[in-house]
Amino acid sequence: MHITDGKVVHIHYTLTDDTGEILDTSSGGEPLAYLHGAGNIISGLENALEGKAVGDTLTVVVPPEEGYGVRNAELVDTVSRSQFPNPEQVEVGVRFRVQIGDMMHIATVTDIVGDTVTFDMNHPLAGVTLHFDVGVVDVKDATPEELSHGHVHAHRTHEH
Ligand SMILES: [Zn+2]
Repeated sequence: MHITDGKVVHIHYTLTDDTGEILDTSSGGEPLAYLHGAGNIISGLENALEGKAVGDTLTVVVPPEEGYGVRNAELVDTVSRSQFPNPEQVEVGVRFRVQIGDMMHIATVTDIVGDTVTFDMNHPLAGVTLHFDVGVVDVKDATPEELSHGHVHAHRTHEH
C-alpha cells in the first residue's frame, strides 16, 4: 500500500539542522502517526512522503519556507527589564507570552544588556533548514471518523 491522501501513516524520523545537531527524533519511542493529506505535518515532509510504502527510507531537506517559515526581524524587540512582573527572574532562554492585537506569541529572551532585554517571537525553528531522515513503518486506510476529524485516533477509539 502506498501513501496517498486519506492513509494513516506511521513513520520513524530524526530531525537535524544544517550542523547535524539533532532537534527531534522518534528513535527509541513510538513512531509518529499522522493522516496523510490533512496538513498534520509540515508540507515539505508530507509532499516527500507521497507515494512511498512500508520499508521505504528517505532523506528530506525542507527549506524554511516549507517548514516553520523564514525569520521575521519585526518579531524581535526590546523591553526594559523593569517592565517584567518578576524582573529578577528574567534571563536568556526564559519564555513568556506576548499579545499583539489578537495574536498571542511565545517570546524567548535572547539577550540582556544592562536593563535592556531582547526577546524573539519567531518560532524557534523559523529560518532553519530541516533535515529529516524518515522510515515508513506502517500505512493503512483511515477510518471514516478519522477522515472527518482530519487526524489520527490512537487505538482506533475516540480518545483525544
Ligand atoms: Zn477526532
